[in-house]
Amino acid sequence: MTDSFEAKGRRKRLVAVLRQKGITDEEVLRAIDTVPRHLFMDPAFLNHAYIDKAFPLSSGQTISQPYTVAVQTSLLRIKKRDKILEVGTGSGYQAAVLAEMGAKVYTIERYRDLFLKAQKTLISLGYEVDFFYGDGYEGKSQYGPFDGIIVTAAAPEVPSALLQQLKNGGRLVIPIGGSISQVMTVAVRTSDNTFEYTDHGNFIFVPMLKGTVNAK
Ligand code: SAH
Repeated sequence: MTDSFEAKGRRKRLVAVLRQKGITDEEVLRAIDTVPRHLFMDPAFLNHAYIDKAFPLSSGQTISQPYTVAVQTSLLRIKKRDKILEVGTGSGYQAAVLAEMGAKVYTIERYRDLFLKAQKTLISLGYEVDFFYGDGYEGKSQYGPFDGIIVTAAAPEVPSALLQQLKNGGRLVIPIGGSISQVMTVAVRTSDNTFEYTDHGNFIFVPMLKGTVNAK
């Protein structure tokens, strides 16, 4: 698995598209310019890797659209060495973007084959990320509390276990809603018992489901 000049050129054009669409966080844009998204997809799809579209993975899941990755990552407001929990590893691309920005990343996936594949991809690219096969509704309290939690699947409501695993001042970024479309929601923990919610536009994600799947 290698990067290439062609892929680098395509990434520069993708970053320009994301700027046009309103992404302004330079650290996020730098990470997207650096992480070789095509290596998180089937190698036959270089043509698709750097257009601003979601793309199918195995198990009926999808690698999020680059714009969506950019919005969610910007909303987390990551600082270097922040502890970030991701729910929904999928291809591992979002986890790589977070790691590229200097975060300490913990990521959970409920599909065993995706969990294994993403782990392999990130290790081969030299990213140090902690992977878990499990149900992200429970979070990972033994590794918390977290500076930020990002959920990359659509939840019907904010899971309370995730709120409880935020540090004071920590941010949870999660698409909330039904199957047709969801509202990108940020919950900031303002004290032990208080959370402030803001909305950030409509998106479409695969659903956040309970339990695990140990099959292809
Ligand atoms: N962040 C991914 C996009 C993943 S798509 C990427 O960069 O490629 C959403 C993922 O969330 C799917 O892989 C799906 O299996 C996973 N998922 C859904 N519900 C989950 C849950 N309860 N716990 C962990 N992962 C979950």
